Amino acid sequence: MSLKLYNTMGRKLEEFKPLHEGFCGFYGCGPTVYNYAHIGNLRAYVFLDVLDRVLCFLGYKKKHVMNITDIGHLSGDADDGEDKMVKQAIERKQSVLEIADFYTKAFFNDIERLNIKKPDVVCKATDHVQEMIDLIKQIEANGHTYMAGGNLYFDVTTFDDYGKLANLKLDELKAGAGERDVVVVDENKRNPYDFVLWFTKSKFENQALVWDSPWGRGYPGWHIECSAMSMKYLGRHFDIHTGGIDHIPIHHTNEIAQSEGAFSSEERNAGPWVNYWLHNEFLVIQKEKNDDSSDDTAKMSKSSGNFLTLQTLIDKGYDPLDYRYFLLGAHYRSQAKFSWDSMDSAKNSRKALVQRAAKVFASYDGKSVDESSLSEKAKDYLAKFTTAIENDLATPQALSYVQVAIKDSELQASEIVTIVRKMDEVLGLKIEDCAKEFNKKESAQVDTHEGDPEAEEITALVLERTQAKKDKDFAKADQIRNDLQARGVIIIDTPNGPIWKRN
Ligand code: AMP
Ligand code: ZN
Repeated sequence: MSLKLYNTMGRKLEEFKPLHEGFCGFYGCGPTVYNYAHIGNLRAYVFLDVLDRVLCFLGYKKKHVMNITDIGHLSGDADDGEDKMVKQAIERKQSVLEIADFYTKAFFNDIERLNIKKPDVVCKATDHVQEMIDLIKQIEANGHTYMAGGNLYFDVTTFDDYGKLANLKLDELKAGAGERDVVVVDENKRNPYDFVLWFTKSKFENQALVWDSPWGRGYPGWHIECSAMSMKYLGRHFDIHTGGIDHIPIHHTNEIAQSEGAFSSEERNAGPWVNYWLHNEFLVIQKEKNDDSSDDTAKMSKSSGNFLTLQTLIDKGYDPLDYRYFLLGAHYRSQAKFSWDSMDSAKNSRKALVQRAAKVFASYDGKSVDESSLSEKAKDYLAKFTTAIENDLATPQALSYVQVAIKDSELQASEIVTIVRKMDEVLGLKIEDCAKEFNKKESAQVDTHEGDPEAEEITALVLERTQAKKDKDFAKADQIRNDLQARGVIIIDTPNGPIWKRN
């Protein structure tokens, strides 16, 4: 098998063929840091993390780039509304950069708690304004722009295939049809779908951050930052671009137009800017049952008040990994329906997984088993797991294989340890750490046997087993373990020697 990914461009599953053998360059649209990320936003980054981990699991070298939007993202993606950063700064009486700094730190704290690996490159929009200006100059030189009302616009009619990603047709768009239903009235625009590359007319009298440019002192439109930064770090053509599905009709559609609009004819002939477009579906909130509307879900959005942060989940007693587990249980291209019941069920399933793993690690002798010397059955689990993740990152199936393998009594503990470690490279559930932590807590509770009349005898048997293991008399050691198990006593091997407890 080989990696297959669902490409939004063309709407089909395709075999992943990187531009450079064995290497994948990819870019994910990062957060706009004017507030805490909500758990819907965080779904986008767990998905991106799974992609990153799958590439590594399959042996690719990779470069993962993520932007931090700290300027220019208006409350409407199509240039309408207010600048989200500036609005927050005014309300909080802080500078834009202070706001950005605070919420960037909060974002990285969240992703660390979700065991999301930090991207290889994290780049801030405000550090790359010169790159944006340079790119806009190329777009202008290729004849795609016009000035109106003090702003520089991209003229979408000059770009063949505008809207291809979202299956948009300009004629239909003018009539307001198609996947994109946002029509912004801006009298400066020649076409409703034209978008701003550079603003000089600020909606705020004291626009906090402005830069000199060939078009006047001002600031960049939101879309240009992703084109400029991805190209800077990944080159003029790269493999994969990701984001939530909301980005298909406007943000990514405009990113393609301006990036390829900056291409020379050689670059155009060399192929598209990005080969694979991957989009995660939304996290929605399951409405209360007493709501009698036909739609039983609500969008997670800050404005509607349906806005939960990771910290809210923690405050309610969930581990961030419970939320990660919940997300892995839904395929990234399906809506994930959030409810407290579904969080409880994720929490319980993860707990059961950790407890299973704890038993395995307790009886594991520490000897590592090479993947090639695994039994056929263990190899089969790994093969099925690999097939699942190669099939467009099918995490629900992948998760089911770890759950089954971990309780397969035909496998030796050392084999289970090997395959669980391998599978967890993709799942990122910290199964081994959690299992060991669980055993540590258990041992803290059971290492004294005061008031237990049988304790002396059991302790003596445990010591006898330890001696048998030292003498390499494994048959005897196993016999003692089994006898004790039959009496309801479990031996837990810890780094400080064995302890026992009643089952
Ligand atoms: P933002 O910080 O608003 O720029 O969004 C960050 C990322 O979260 C983008 O990739 C969005 O597409 C994605 N996103 C926003 N809302 C949701 C949601 N409810 N579920 C999943 N992804 C979302
Ligand atoms: Zn972007």
